[in-house]
Amino acid sequence: MDPVEVAAAPPEAGPGPAWRSKCPWGAPNTASMSCSLADVMSEQLAKELQLEEESAAFPEVVAVAEGPLITAENVDTSSDLMLAQMLQMEFDREYDAQLRREEKKINGDSKVSISFENYRKVHPYDSDSSEDEVDWQDTRHDPYRADKPTTTPRKGFIGKGKDITTKHDEVVCGRKNTARMENFAPEFQVGDGIGMDLKLSNQVFNALKQHAYSEERRSARLHEKKEHSTAEKAVDPKTRLLLYKMVNSGMLETITGCISTGKESVVFHAYGGNATEDKVIPPECAIKVFKTTLNEFKNRDKYIKDDYRFKDRFSKLNPRKVIRMWAEKEMHNLTRMQNAGIPCPEVVILKKHVLVMSFIGQDQVPAPKLKDVTLSSEDMKKAYYQVLNMMQQLYKECNLVHADLSEYNMLWHDGKVWFIDVSQSVEPTHPHGLEFLFRDCKNVSQFFQKGGVAEALNERELFNAVSGFNITADNEVDFQEEIEALEKMNEDHVQNHGKKLAMFSSDGDPPIYDE
Ligand code: ADP
Ligand code: MN
Repeated sequence: MDPVEVAAAPPEAGPGPAWRSKCPWGAPNTASMSCSLADVMSEQLAKELQLEEESAAFPEVVAVAEGPLITAENVDTSSDLMLAQMLQMEFDREYDAQLRREEKKINGDSKVSISFENYRKVHPYDSDSSEDEVDWQDTRHDPYRADKPTTTPRKGFIGKGKDITTKHDEVVCGRKNTARMENFAPEFQVGDGIGMDLKLSNQVFNALKQHAYSEERRSARLHEKKEHSTAEKAVDPKTRLLLYKMVNSGMLETITGCISTGKESVVFHAYGGNATEDKVIPPECAIKVFKTTLNEFKNRDKYIKDDYRFKDRFSKLNPRKVIRMWAEKEMHNLTRMQNAGIPCPEVVILKKHVLVMSFIGQDQVPAPKLKDVTLSSEDMKKAYYQVLNMMQQLYKECNLVHADLSEYNMLWHDGKVWFIDVSQSVEPTHPHGLEFLFRDCKNVSQFFQKGGVAEALNERELFNAVSGFNITADNEVDFQEEIEALEKMNEDHVQNHGKKLAMFSSDGDPPIYDE
């Protein structure tokens, strides 16, 4: 498309609500500049030269002139797709900020207010706090170490004294504008200017942007319901970027689709890509994305708050980091299980709130949950003994209690049971660890007893068999009380002596509970 033609088109031409015709990005100003062309040219030339000089001296800084997202550490300018994604996010944020201003202006102090919520590009929870913006680092060792301060100049310009280059620099800005055109809706024709070194003026770009948006909105209204799908909501722009990077880096071959959408996570299937020097990628992977919407996680505080492994970190964290902690917990717990030889997904990599692990199943078909599979009585019995064994191993060798064990979190694959979903698993000395274990035992015992396994222990026997305690109460209420007494004893001991009771120790003989 010829940019001159675009400039001539009146911006009001596009359909759209009245508020937008006020042109939130600045009124298109057709008045020509008062200086001569020669002046402009020479000034531009000077700036261009200066820019070149700067990029030679500070290559990484000049490349990242805009926005809190694009920092020197995480930017990979070699990928157009990624760059486009980053620009899109920046663009969306600007758009939303303007929307917010408009909303405020319209509503004033009125008791009845109009919400522009549905027009937002970025979901409220997606909006980031720049302090947790470390994006693509190896988080396997300590994902929550203090983030490096961002090197992006928040002040909006680079350089000193007369050498300042602001984000308003025409050349930088013009090129950026052209690149941004690529982010207009796919059906919006932007011509072939993108590949050229085209410097689109702000006015032209703004006019185009307005038009593209009103087009996009119009078609969106036609085709889309108010609610996005849950899966889509979980995969906010930043998560999408993380996933793109996994594919772009070759670690994953393709992400084929969504296996499960839960309250707290969305799981995708992917084909594994190339091995790195320290890691062989399984042929099929499951990607568990912990949702960044926070409300679902509130009631899970109790699992992590009292887990001493996370104790000193919890209080200082913002909710977003707490969600990453769930992912981190799942990774650590899976690793422990793997080391003990318990059938479970193998950790591939953790990036922020995205955990990649091996896929249990085949050819994109996930293994069925125990609740969904019909087993012969022989297999059912086999499964029971296996689960009993795995629970003991989990407790004694991994020093863990699953804490959400049921037929929903056990898969049947290759003729055996696999444990999954261990983000909430805790150590037995967790202040509620034994209560969680008892709940697990109830689920398991009920499932196998109903499933016709005559040998299945009842929940109290199972609890003792797994934990090594010897609680003799013969009814649930008393049993539960004794469990809580034990937990309290341990808590007091930790308070007074700074360490847990010896009877919780996972090595040596099974502890005997002494009434
Ligand atoms: P949630 O917290 O949502 O329950 P899960 O870890 O249980 O998360 O995963 C949800 C579902 O996704 C599981 O019930 C299972 O069907 C599927 N799934 C999760 N991890 C894997 C895996 N590694 N391989 C195959 N399927 C998996
Ligand atoms: Mn689950």
